[in-house]
Formats: sequence, C-alpha cells, structure tokens
Amino acid sequence: MGIKRNRIVVKVGTSTLTNEHGNSNLRAMESLVLAISDIQNMNNEVILVSSGAIAVGANKMHLPEKPKEMRMKQAAAAVGQCENMFLYDKFFGYYNKTVAQILFNAEDITHEEKKENLANTFETLLEQNIIPIVNENDSVSYTEIESEEKLFGDNDMLSAVVAILCRADKLVILSDIDGFYNKDPRLYKDAKLISRIEEIDESTYALAGGAGSRRGTGGMRTKLQAADIATAQGIDVIVTNGKNTDALYDIVNGKKVGTLFVAKK
Ligand code: ADP
Repeated sequence: MGIKRNRIVVKVGTSTLTNEHGNSNLRAMESLVLAISDIQNMNNEVILVSSGAIAVGANKMHLPEKPKEMRMKQAAAAVGQCENMFLYDKFFGYYNKTVAQILFNAEDITHEEKKENLANTFETLLEQNIIPIVNENDSVSYTEIESEEKLFGDNDMLSAVVAILCRADKLVILSDIDGFYNKDPRLYKDAKLISRIEEIDESTYALAGGAGSRRGTGGMRTKLQAADIATAQGIDVIVTNGKNTDALYDIVNGKKVGTLFVAKK
C-alpha cells in the first residue's frame, strides 16, 4: 500500500541459465523464479527476457558442441525454447504464477501495426498478472544468432526494446558479472566496479571489451548499447550478477546494486 507499482523488465543471459556443461542451471533458474514471483507479489509488474534456447536445445539434442551451422542453431533454438518454457512454467507454477511466451524479431517492431499488437498483448498480460517471458524468434530470424555485429547481443538489445515498448520503469540486466567495471575483470584483477553512470559516451564504450563469456555472446558492449537506448527513453538500467537474485529485492527497494545507468528524464 502506498508503494508505486513499478514495471520491471528483467533480462537473463545464457551464462546464468546454463552451467559449464550446457545443461540448464536449475538452481539459478529456480532462485530467479522465486525472486520474480516475490517481486510481483510486492505489487510490481515483471517481464522476463530470457536467452539460453540454443545452448539448452543443443544439449537436449545431444550435440557434441554448440552448433555452428545456421539450420542446426535454429533447430536447437526450437528445442531449447520449448524446454526453457517447460521449466519456467513448472517453477513459476510452484508459486501459483502464470507465464506467457512471447517470441518476436527486430523486423516485427519496425512494422507499426505489429508493434502496436505486441504492445497491446504485453499490456493485457500484465493487466492479468501474467508474467510474459520473451525471447527472439530464433527459428525464423537470424539477427541474433547470425549477425556479425551481434545486434541483439544475447538479447541485451531485445530487452531494451521490450522495456521501451512497454514503457517500463526499470530494466535489470542480469549477467555473469557484478556490474560494469573500468576494465574487463576477467582480464584485469585490479578492475573496479562503477556503481553509477550518468552519461554513456565513447569513453564508456572504450572500457567494454569485445564479446563476453563463452556461453554468453554480447559482452558489455551490447549491455551499454541497451542501456544507451533505454536510459534515453527515461528508463533506469541496472546491470548486476544473475547469481545473486536477492539483488532484485534490493532494486525494488531502491537500494544500490551493481551498476546503475541513470535514466535521462
Ligand atoms: P551474459 O551472458 O550474462 O549476457 P556476457 O558474457 O555476454 O554475459 O557479458 C559479460 C562479460 O563481459 C563479463 O563476464 C566480462 O568478461 C565482459 N566484460 C568486458 N568488459 C567489461 C567491463 N568493462 N565490465 C564488466 N565486464 C566486462
């Protein structure tokens, strides 16, 4: 009571959802689901943007390694998406939550009518207290899985697009690292966490290395791009570690965690 109802988009990457063998990381998934369910019970609206379909699918298909060939990637995405939704449905079901799957591509939101339909679907689901779970529609698109530039970068950009489309208050990007550092902590032991960034410019991009972890794809660069477009639309963006799902409680309680990219207006 008296607490503002916040609309929060939470993005979780492959590196959080799968373990080093490419299997689903059930503990990580379960603790994420618990935190999101609790946060929704605290009168917030939550949209989850979840990656990991190709890695999970490849594993379920018993492929010896993550597929390189386009058609195999798309097949693995179709298998893995199904498995991920099955697990989400089951885990969220423990807490009496209903989930919905939304798959779309960059092309869909360049089309005004489709964009409006999508926004209306999100609005209706949230109104019904349903948790939309979003991924790129990998089996019909290749912007995410094939693009040289890694345009959506393991869904970082997709999560910003969703946050803007749904006029979210906050975008939380859960990564395999505690936040944005002054240099890549994987390469430099003395790297320092930057807890607040007001302005994203060339000097900020210079601090982010190339693509990230073996299982993730975007690295910090795509997270900065996502933060750039979302903050420009008045959305606070927080990058923090997916291993610590308690951070989600801190975020809704207005406590400092990870790196906050401050909204522009
Ligand atoms: P996810 O799958 O969670 O999206 P990624 O592997 O794509 O994660 O991106 C996170 C990785 O980005 C980190 O593990 C780190 O190695 C790398 N990185 C590069 N530059 C930085 C930086 N300045 N601060 C933090 N991480 C960085």
